[in-house]
Amino acid sequence: MENLRSEKEKEFNNSQFSTLYSTLLYIHIPFCDSKCNYCAFNSYTNINHLKKEYFSALKTQFLHEISSDTQFKTMFIGGGTPSTMDAGFYERLFGLISPYLKNVEEITIECNPNTSYEWLRDIKNLGVNRISFGVQSFDEEKLKFLNRNHSPSQALKAIQNAKKAGFENINLDLIYSTALDTKELLTKDLNTAFSLPVTHLSAYSLTIEENTKWEGDFSKRKYDEELEIWFINKIKEKFRQYEISNFGTPCKHNLGYWEGKEYFGIGAGAVGFKKWRMENGEWRIFRYYTQNNVHEYLKDPTKYQYEYLTDNDIKKEKVFLGLRSIIGFDEDILNPQEKKRAGILVKENKLLKKEKRIYSYDFLLADALTNYILD
Ligand code: SF4
Repeated sequence: MENLRSEKEKEFNNSQFSTLYSTLLYIHIPFCDSKCNYCAFNSYTNINHLKKEYFSALKTQFLHEISSDTQFKTMFIGGGTPSTMDAGFYERLFGLISPYLKNVEEITIECNPNTSYEWLRDIKNLGVNRISFGVQSFDEEKLKFLNRNHSPSQALKAIQNAKKAGFENINLDLIYSTALDTKELLTKDLNTAFSLPVTHLSAYSLTIEENTKWEGDFSKRKYDEELEIWFINKIKEKFRQYEISNFGTPCKHNLGYWEGKEYFGIGAGAVGFKKWRMENGEWRIFRYYTQNNVHEYLKDPTKYQYEYLTDNDIKKEKVFLGLRSIIGFDEDILNPQEKKRAGILVKENKLLKKEKRIYSYDFLLADALTNYILD
């Protein structure tokens, strides 16, 4: 497939920019300083010598995908650890992308809490307006257990430095359900987080994944549903929950994913999502996947694998993602039997129906509710 954009694609976009193609941009940085024990992301610690070449590959892929009328509404630089790249890398990156950021509303970058003030200031000056720190915990022992390479005091300092550098939109990632977690430890973590100038928390329950240091070792996780619910409710005392793992001022980029908007995926192991109208008028909706392996990606950054989505796949995603978040879904995507089952849940006060949209009261039940409705 040549360029993933087609002229007719524009018809699909109901954006505020009537003559522009408005979309989201994700850029993946696969480098990390050390590997966390639980991490299954596409990230590497032994290929730092490839950082320079990596820029050239990103540029090649980006120029292959972009068209002159594209404008990004949001951009998210994730990883890996984007803060392992020096500010000069981002100066060059923004030099490449800035013509397509004229209407951008949010630019997020993920960083490690050992990041310096100077780096944060330089990144802010480039136009990044949302920063996300992989804090995970403020407990020294828990950080060592997870094999994070920062200390609690570095995290505190980095968040204060981000504020000093002018960031108003600051996120912390926290991890819970590790074997070390107790109400006491988690309360301390939350009290520290709440005392800082943060606008958003992402809280992820530990999962034991394949191809990680902890693969198969379930002793590293705590299975305590009561503790999990207690922790989520504790966060909700301070920040509004708008998605199963996310609280506070919503991240527009992630909302875009959950709303089913199209996005560009640039970088090794990145994923893009496109809606493409064929000559016969039918829509093709698909994800494309770049190569995970950085060496292979550098050789050919535009070699993709495609996953075509059926109408049923799309419906399932809309219902599931809608019920995990404040987004909800339009009841007209359901067939009559499914509508009937959704209606039963509305009557039982498990779902809320507002005009034609259906919302969940409890995002933690998204799996079960989706399975019941779509059966
Ligand atoms: S910093 Fe993030 S991406 Fe890197 S190893 Fe740790 S969890 Fe994985």
